[in-house]
Amino acid sequence: MAKIQMKNAIAELDGDEMTRVLWKVIKEELLLPYVDLKTEYYDLGLKSRDDSDDKITYEAAEAIKRLHVGVKCATITSNQARVEEYHLKKLTPSPNGIIRAELDGTVFREPIFVNNVHGTVSCWKKPIVLGRHAYGDVYKNCEIKCPTAGKAELVFTGTDGKEIRKTIMDMKGPGIIQGIHNLDESIENFAKCCFTYAANKKLCVWFGAKDTISKIYDGNFKEIFQRVFDQDFKKQFDDAGIEYFYTLIDDAVARVMRSEGGFMWATKNYDGDVMSDMIASACGSLAMMTSVLVSPDGNFEYEASHGTVQKHYYRYLKGEKTSTNPVATIFAWTGALAKRGELDENKELVDFAKCLEKATLQTIEEGYMTGDIARIASPKAKKILNSWEYIAAIKERIR
Ligand code: NAP
Ligand code: MG
Repeated sequence: MAKIQMKNAIAELDGDEMTRVLWKVIKEELLLPYVDLKTEYYDLGLKSRDDSDDKITYEAAEAIKRLHVGVKCATITSNQARVEEYHLKKLTPSPNGIIRAELDGTVFREPIFVNNVHGTVSCWKKPIVLGRHAYGDVYKNCEIKCPTAGKAELVFTGTDGKEIRKTIMDMKGPGIIQGIHNLDESIENFAKCCFTYAANKKLCVWFGAKDTISKIYDGNFKEIFQRVFDQDFKKQFDDAGIEYFYTLIDDAVARVMRSEGGFMWATKNYDGDVMSDMIASACGSLAMMTSVLVSPDGNFEYEASHGTVQKHYYRYLKGEKTSTNPVATIFAWTGALAKRGELDENKELVDFAKCLEKATLQTIEEGYMTGDIARIASPKAKKILNSWEYIAAIKERIR
């Protein structure tokens, strides 16, 4: 069979640890035999980011903007332990944080359903699409550990030179303070991305924040969402029979837990970080979820939402063939290839991506799967496979 040709390249962002190991296997076994893969490769492994003082991460973000499609492997966000483990020059910032800020996008995450893995929340019959704002808040924070008692203030100096000053706290002893921000433009883009994505999929949109406590900050999110909806989307939603509603974040969580799913939950950056992991594990496994970053000017970055599966990697280094689930990473590739195919009007490429997704899920539905989901599979798994065996089983089905 002749390999499928690609017209334009995608930005390929390699990563760390177990996911980096699987990245290579997925490419060699499931992609390269069938597709004449065109990628611009960026090594976002921790050492390479540190060596380049993060220049490589900014270059990768630029490439996504230029090519409009990227695929990213999970990467380590460094902490002190990693600085020692990898002999780093310094603590590097989160590469996801850098890319999300560069693209100013919204991350959409959706659980992947198979008919023999039932999540722990029995009332969820349909996937919940989570729309996570990917700019600002605590991910672009500024913190001080205050060594003594003192006065903490919030100061804003406008471009016109005018100053606004408020006291945060007259601190009676040592403590901590943190400054966070967001931009109206980014929040508007976030709202537009969510409403557009939901309208395409005919899903209602729920948005939750804490405007009762954070009257100005979260209040601003609430106001902008409502304004964008009323101005640009209300009619479209009415016509499609779908709705938008705002509620407090704690009420949203309570409603989500007793819902049957099938809607979009728009969340602020931190809420989305935490809640997408909750939804993914409740649906079976962190690896049974797709994740795509969509920027308002039409750039797409596909990734797995889980991390580098560090514990499995250490076992792999000791010689174990681990049963790490590659589904989310495979779906990052299929998402990127399908989007590339769609933008380039390359039907063969789109069809290949769909075929690979089908083979990946069919393998599980026929009873062959990795340990994380075998734990909760019903009927019971016929065989628990390691990652290499599972990928080989997918390959058999592609053929
Ligand atoms: P993690 O890599 O998501 O793994 C946490 C645990 O979840 C694993 O130990 C494993 O549980 C289970 N798990 C996650 N993915 C799995 C998969 N594909 N197959 C089977 N089990 C899976 O989170 P972490 O260990 O907290 O973080 C490791 C590194 O990833 C950190 O350095 C962090 O900075 C980074 N990280 C990166 C991203 C990203 O790039 N998008 C996101 C989150 C974290 P068991 O051990 O019980 O099998
Ligand atoms: Mg998270």
